[in-house]
Amino acid sequence: MKRINTNPSQLWDQWLQRLHGIEDPQKKYFRLELIQLLVRSEKDDKKTFLHRFGTVMCRSIHFGTVLLVDKKNQKILYSNENIYGGKNTKKILERIPRNKGLSIKQFPRGRKIIENRPLSKGIYQIPITIFPEDNIVLVIISLENLPVEDRQFLQFVSSLIGVFEQKTIISRELAQEQRLLGLLTQHINQGLVLFSPDLTATLWNRPLQRITGYSPKEAHGKPFDELIKIKNQSNWLSKLIKKYNLNKQQNSFSLEGEITTKTKSSRWISISGSFLRDENGNIEQTIALIRDISKTKELEERKNEFISIATHELRTPITVIKGYLSLLKSNQNNLSEKQQTYLDNAYSATERLVGLTEDLLQVTRLDQNRMKFNLRLVELTSIIKKVSDDFSEKARDKGLEFNISLPSYKTTIVGDPIRLEQVFSNLVDNAIKYSIKGSVSISFEHYTKRTTKEDKIAVIIKDTGIGIDHKDIEGIFDKFHRTEKAGDLRVVGVGLGLYIVKSFIEKQNGSITVKSRLKRGSVFAVTFPVISDLSKMPKIVPPKKLETATDKKADAITRGGVAAIAEEKIGSSMGRVK
Ligand code: ADP
Repeated sequence: MKRINTNPSQLWDQWLQRLHGIEDPQKKYFRLELIQLLVRSEKDDKKTFLHRFGTVMCRSIHFGTVLLVDKKNQKILYSNENIYGGKNTKKILERIPRNKGLSIKQFPRGRKIIENRPLSKGIYQIPITIFPEDNIVLVIISLENLPVEDRQFLQFVSSLIGVFEQKTIISRELAQEQRLLGLLTQHINQGLVLFSPDLTATLWNRPLQRITGYSPKEAHGKPFDELIKIKNQSNWLSKLIKKYNLNKQQNSFSLEGEITTKTKSSRWISISGSFLRDENGNIEQTIALIRDISKTKELEERKNEFISIATHELRTPITVIKGYLSLLKSNQNNLSEKQQTYLDNAYSATERLVGLTEDLLQVTRLDQNRMKFNLRLVELTSIIKKVSDDFSEKARDKGLEFNISLPSYKTTIVGDPIRLEQVFSNLVDNAIKYSIKGSVSISFEHYTKRTTKEDKIAVIIKDTGIGIDHKDIEGIFDKFHRTEKAGDLRVVGVGLGLYIVKSFIEKQNGSITVKSRLKRGSVFAVTFPVISDLSKMPKIVPPKKLETATDKKADAITRGGVAAIAEEKIGSSMGRVK
């Protein structure tokens, strides 16, 4: 058995020329049939197709028997002659070369392969790639010697058809997948959108019409900020892309916002999306799932309102009780030792309740975006000095070392001094609360951010306390999050402090991070952009959402009475940083 060397890429042009240059009228017919095969109807099934293919191949040669054989299942799928019959089929199948390539079994003196037929000179196997999974070969039982060139030409034709057939199969599969994708995108009950590099919508499903009012047809080709207009977050997608192009490791994002629909009504949506990047890592497309969360938001708002009203109602009687208890405390000489202990216990429990109602009020106001920040230029060192004066005694009473190292450089930032004091008091209080021995220290760090070249100042609060387990770190700034260890220590608290701290910091354009190891201690770092050049100070604009009268009263109490109210009046002319 001989194997014939072929180099399809090299021969391709040659065969195309040969195909093109066919002059013989009968062969011309073959060319026509071949073209018909290439552009075959999608509806043809495999059997019909193979039959037509066999016929075309048969026309290209005029000597012998042409067969299509399924080598996997040992079956003859097509034959140009009626050679069927148990004995013949068996004989033919046995004689077909076992290997896969173009090959030939020659019988120089001729051999009888099919009953009642002249002697055959050879059996040629030409692999065809039409249905690769089936291992089908074209078999020619020739009565004369087939010139090598003819054999190669046959293989060329079969691979040509194979390529076209593959294309048909792929495009059929692609169409099927597209249909599936279409069904999926239109029938999932969440909004699905795909934005192209120019930030216009290329995919927009039906559920998005229910959310935004824009139909897929209307949305197609429209820019993102026209379709998804988020209140107070103009250009949200371009800003996100700019940010994510700086950090190529991250690809997914999520955000919530209130949008204005086509009919000018408003809805709350949550967006969770991913960026698709090109080979250089630049963002090309954005795909996002969008959910209507208006109902959840409404419920949340009602819950917040309830907490807000309930805590307001609670606060007055608690403050009265605290007032009376403190009156009693100032005259406690008349009380027995036991009565004094009861009084002290009642007083500290009331203090805790006051703290809790304050925290709850602040959380609801933060969640409803009703908290005002009186932003101005603040020297961070003066805030830290005040906080450490307030807490150094508490730390020392507990046997902890208390260290503070103030910097010599300027630490000017834009912030609300009262809220900043609350932030640092909370962090230093926690550092003392959650440390049994060792030290609590406060220091500063000044640096320039590599990516944005922004000058930053960080206040670092370090303790050698119980530490935070790594499984708790992620949720440590969530509402009501307390660690097991904190519970073991029997330190009172409800887990609202760090949530308020983080929200306050972020509202003042800052950020907070924590590093901690169990039993080793924790390091909280609070960072703000530092104002080194007053001419480059961010513009301060007045807040959009006004506070209610009760908020103002609550603020006045937080800010420490009359002096704070006066300060509030002065400060109300200021606003928040853009
Ligand atoms: P609270 O102290 O009222 O429980 P916080 O929100 O201030 O609430 O803190 C949340 C939880 O984080 C605490 O309960 C405690 O488990 C943990 N935590 C906060 N600060 C520290 C710290 N410095 N060291 C160890 N754990 C801490």
